[in-house]
Amino acid sequence: MEKQAVDGARRAFNSGRSRPLQYRKQQLSALLRLIRERQAEIVSALKRDISRSEFDTPIFELIGIENDIKLAERNLADWMAPQPVKKTLLTITDDVYIKAEPLGVVLIIGAWNYPWSLTLRPLVGAIAAGNAAVVKPSEVSKSSASLLKELLPQYLDTEMYPVVTGGVPETQELLKQRFDHIFYTGNSTVGKLVMEAAARHLAPVTLELGGKSPCYIDKDCDIAVACRRITWGKFANCGQTCIAPDYILCHPNIQLHMIQCLYSLQEFYGEDPKTSPDYGRIINQHHFDRLLALIEGCTVAVGGESDKSQCYITPTILKDVLPHARIMQEEIFGPVLPIVTAGDVNEVIRFINERPKPLALYVFSSNKKQVSLSHTHTHTHTLSLTLLLAVDILVGPALI
Ligand code: NAD
Repeated sequence: MEKQAVDGARRAFNSGRSRPLQYRKQQLSALLRLIRERQAEIVSALKRDISRSEFDTPIFELIGIENDIKLAERNLADWMAPQPVKKTLLTITDDVYIKAEPLGVVLIIGAWNYPWSLTLRPLVGAIAAGNAAVVKPSEVSKSSASLLKELLPQYLDTEMYPVVTGGVPETQELLKQRFDHIFYTGNSTVGKLVMEAAARHLAPVTLELGGKSPCYIDKDCDIAVACRRITWGKFANCGQTCIAPDYILCHPNIQLHMIQCLYSLQEFYGEDPKTSPDYGRIINQHHFDRLLALIEGCTVAVGGESDKSQCYITPTILKDVLPHARIMQEEIFGPVLPIVTAGDVNEVIRFINERPKPLALYVFSSNKKQVSLSHTHTHTHTLSLTLLLAVDILVGPALI
């Protein structure tokens, strides 16, 4: 089944039909139609998978896909055009240019936390580049996976862009096949297996992994505004976002004030988040149990209630968490926010640099010097600096 899908995609690619601009644009606009016409079904699938609110789905999943498609449609002719190159002595008598060529057949392996965005945004890139693509959605978000398998063939070239559903055995079977690029989103343990499998065919990989993204709150900042932004970023999608703030670092003197401010949670999700249409659920019981085990032994400052029958955990804040606590050893990926206290900004920088490189770092300070110090001295993949000098016009961290 998996091999058939890959062989079919390779046959379709070798036919050459994915190369012309017109074909690529036609497939992209068909994908745009899918997103628009089937939005209600996508919203219901996500409601079943992760209790995602109707309001959040367009923002967290669909707008990004639409924007990627529109960007590609606008620029594709330019991207495909040969780019002039300066001649050298070796090429002086030649026509010299760089022309982007499709790689061939790519594999897209998606994760469950944003199941549409994490499969279809890479697919937009694959289509725009003229590739064939085998799409493997996560089996964990099963309603979305089966809806994607049903919908994609109704809109796109089925041979060129097959959807393969299934779990670990199916993905491992796919990974035995030869691909020209593998795009994987998920945890780093599986990321290593993907890289190993790709190495056997010398296939390039894009690995979108996770990490523990710290959030430093400086003494010199508007703590209420910082907490409001962190509350949004941490508890949207029930904390199951790769770059959600994982933990807070702050001076011990401001911890209490911060906990008081984190009551902005009530403003977002009401007195009882369980009844809020805006508050999600943990994806499954395995992750529910994992999260409760992480909380064990920590001091709960806010929240801490749970209901296994609904995979529900209240937005939870933990205080005075020690650096060696279990919750500080792995990515939390849920609605639990530990606060670790640290002295000055130098101690914070040391703390971050002693640990594996995070995906993002959020710095809240009114002091430009502190922000620039954290910026220059920490090792991280991306950085969001929320200078609270102009609180009314700056927005908090973007989160997808
Ligand atoms: P997951 O369980 O859905 O797994 C991801 C994919 O890997 C699935 O399609 C699954 O079938 C496949 N898979 C699982 N085990 C496998 C195995 N043994 N062999 C081959 N394939 C296997 O998702 P997850 O790993 O729980 O995803 C969450 C992680 O993804 C978090 O760490 C999160 O931070 C990260 N993430 C990163 C980004 C990003 O853009 N960097 C975005 C979203 C999620």
